[in-house]
Order: sequence, then structure tokens, then C-alpha cells
Amino acid sequence: MTTFDLILSGGAVVDPKNGLDGRADVGIVDGKIERVEPELDPTTASDIIDASGMWVMPGQIDTHAHVAGLSRNWDPALGHGMLARAGTTTVLDMGGTGQTLIDGIKRRGAGLNVAGQFGLIPGLTIPMGDLRPGAVRRIVSDALRQGCFGVKILGGYNPFTPETTARVIGESNRQRAYVAFHLGTTESGSHLGGVREIPGVVGSGRLHVCHVNSYCRGVVADSTEECDEALSIIESMRGQLNSEAYHAIQNGTSGRCDSDGAVMADVPRNCLRLRGYATTIDGLRQSIRDGYGSVVAQKGGQVYYARGDEALNLFDKGRSNVGMSFPVNLPSSAFRMATAKNDDGEFTIDAVSTDGGSHPRNVAVQSTMALVQFGALTRLEMAEKLSLNPAEMMGLTAKGHLTPGADADITVLDPNRNQPDMSLVAGRLIMHKGRIVGSGGTLLVNPIGEHTAKSSGLPYQVVDPMASKLYAGYAN
Ligand SMILES: [Zn+2]
Repeated sequence: MTTFDLILSGGAVVDPKNGLDGRADVGIVDGKIERVEPELDPTTASDIIDASGMWVMPGQIDTHAHVAGLSRNWDPALGHGMLARAGTTTVLDMGGTGQTLIDGIKRRGAGLNVAGQFGLIPGLTIPMGDLRPGAVRRIVSDALRQGCFGVKILGGYNPFTPETTARVIGESNRQRAYVAFHLGTTESGSHLGGVREIPGVVGSGRLHVCHVNSYCRGVVADSTEECDEALSIIESMRGQLNSEAYHAIQNGTSGRCDSDGAVMADVPRNCLRLRGYATTIDGLRQSIRDGYGSVVAQKGGQVYYARGDEALNLFDKGRSNVGMSFPVNLPSSAFRMATAKNDDGEFTIDAVSTDGGSHPRNVAVQSTMALVQFGALTRLEMAEKLSLNPAEMMGLTAKGHLTPGADADITVLDPNRNQPDMSLVAGRLIMHKGRIVGSGGTLLVNPIGEHTAKSSGLPYQVVDPMASKLYAGYAN
């Protein structure tokens, strides 16, 4: 007779891959799922957690969050705890370095599985000027070697012309690096125009399209039309793209201005234009004074949006180089991205993400639960968007489902409070009722990064990129 290390008993198990949606017990041995059955004998377990009244789903996987960024105003590694509290068990960081990723796990880890994209940030991690093919090749291979899962293109800045962007995507594909793109080249911007460029810059390649909702803010056209067009472009490239969208109304961007006082990034410029502000340092200041713009700030272990005078002080002290946020995301666009399906009933956008982590907007679990209560998604669809699809996007074959032998990563949801109640990673509790009990983390790396992972001293898993949906069937 099997002896279980733990039985999670009496919850409603929601496992789309195995078509389970009802009361069952989950038996765990050695950090893996051993059995899921209507009733397991409680006397066979060393430990029992009562999950009655709860929803038990495969651990939530956030395919877009920030725990390893290069911010100077707050500690991105606080994102580990913030995500754990929000029910996350695995995170794909969207833009740091191998070193900031590993360092952050060691300092502030909360027991999550963590993969990180090397952020291609002009003037910070890569040169401002033109990127020749040799340079691109080196940047991508260095990223993998230092323990990153792949690279993240932060579009809208030099040097990301359409040609350079296509080159980075092509080279990442060649090296099987997971490649994600905050859309927009020098020819377009972080809006529907960037979505229209996807076919041209991807060609026959593969790409993770970041936070699709954020290109449907009504900058180019009516937001409903923007959603229609974005969804139809992404659907037309089915099999080549991974995609996610988040639900928070607050966005995240940079206030950085150049020496002439012009706002540098495309996103804050769009935010200012949406409300008729000048796209200058004074326009940003005025937007803060009016309560429209806020500055990302940290006090103790908390990251929050500072407003008013406090925000203005931080903005001036940081000489505009601060994280900023504007309430520009439309709930209607988020809803479309969460629910839109093609004629075959498949979701067009693969996953619900947070674009949170150290940004205080980790609402994916709560908002997707609310969509179930609202009747817009079924429970199984919720788990598909929050766990199964993300696992497939990243090639995490032992995650996203509760098949015997799978990693015992589990998020337990309380439908009465509409909140995550607890999470387990590899059969161990990392969060319980909002309290973080996990520490450290498991690094997820591309095979090229195994050496770095090993010498980091952290537990790690090597992920075969060819097992991911991104590279499924990719032969070039
Ligand atoms: Zn992001």
C-alpha cells in the first residue's frame, strides 16, 4: 500500500488536461503527484491538508512578471513574495539578467520556480546603436549561458528597427532561446501598430507576444476594433505565437526623459497623449500633480504606487528615471483577451498573466476566478489559462496538470473569498492564507545555462525548448 507524504483532501480538483472537475483527493509522494482519486485512505498519509470547499488546481504559472529587473527605485526581487501571496508557483520573469535573477532568488525567493528572460534594454544591457548579426548572436548565446530562459525585446526604442527586431527573433529561434517581445519597433509603437508588424518581423519564425491587452487601449482606433484586429492577426499566426494578456488597469512603464526633457519611451508618451498632456518632463510632472501618473515606490518590503507630492518628490529625486504607472488598461480589452476563441473553440490568447511580480498588480488569479463566478469562463478554462497553457508555452511538461508523476505544484483557491488560499511547490507549502512560508527557488534554464545553474548552488531544472509550444514542430 502506498504511503503518501501528503493528501490534499476534499477539494474540487480542476485539472483541464485530465478532464477532472469535481471533488477528489490528491496524494503526493516525493514532491510528485502520486494519485488523484475520489477518496484516498487518510490513514495512509503522513500529513493531511483539508481543502474542502476549495478549488484545487495545478499551480498557477505566470508567463509575464517582474522579479529580476534593473530598477533602482525598488527591489524587483520583492516580486517573489508578492507573486507567492497571489497564488503563483512558477514565474517567467520578463527582463533582467542571469545575475539579477539568481541573486534575487537567493535574497528574496519565496519557493517559486523561476525562469528569466534577458532584457534587451538599449543603453543598459545592450548598446544603443545598430546591432550587427554577430552582435545579436553573441547577445542571445550570452543570455542563455548566464542562466536566462531566453531574451525579451523591449520594443519602441532604438536600435529596434523592424530589421533589427526580425534579426533578434530569427537568431533567438535559431538558438532555441525563448523570445518575447514587448511590441513596437522604431517604425510603430507600443500599440496596435506594433501588432500589425508581427507577421513581418516574425516571418516563418516563433515569438511570445507580451501583454496583448496593452496594445488595445484605444490609441490607434476604437478599442473594440483594436481588439478585433489584434485577435485576428494573432489567430492568423496560430502555431507560431505564444501570447498572454493581463487584467490590471494600472500599466507599468518608465518616466525616463532625455537631456532635452523629452519622454524617451513610447508607452508613457501614449499615456500622456491619451489625456492631452505634453510628452515632456513637464507633462509627466503635471500628470502626477493631477493624480493620473503615479510612481512605483518601495517602503520596507512593500512596493506600491506613490501619488501626488510623494510621487513628485521621487520623480525629481530620480531625475525622471523612475518606474511609473498610469490607469490606462481597459477592462473591456482584458475581458476580450481572456475569453476570445476561434471557430474551433480554442483560446486565441494562450494565458492570463499579471505583468506584475514587483509591480503591485498581481491580480491574475483573483480576476480569472471572478470571470468564473461571472460565467464568462468555466473552472476548467480558468485552470487552462492560468496553468495548463502557460506550462505548454514554456515546455514545462511536468507542470500544468495533476497527472501521476507530475510535479506537485498546486494552487488552492477559496471561491468564497475569491482569493488564493495556499500554494505548494513540489509538494511543499510555499504560501498559506497570504503568509509566505517558502524560500529560495528553483531555477528553470535552457540546456545552455545548465553550467551556470549548477554553479549558482540553487536547485534547478533544465527545460527542453523543443518541448515548448513555442518551438513545437520548429525545424529551421
Ligand atoms: Zn512587463
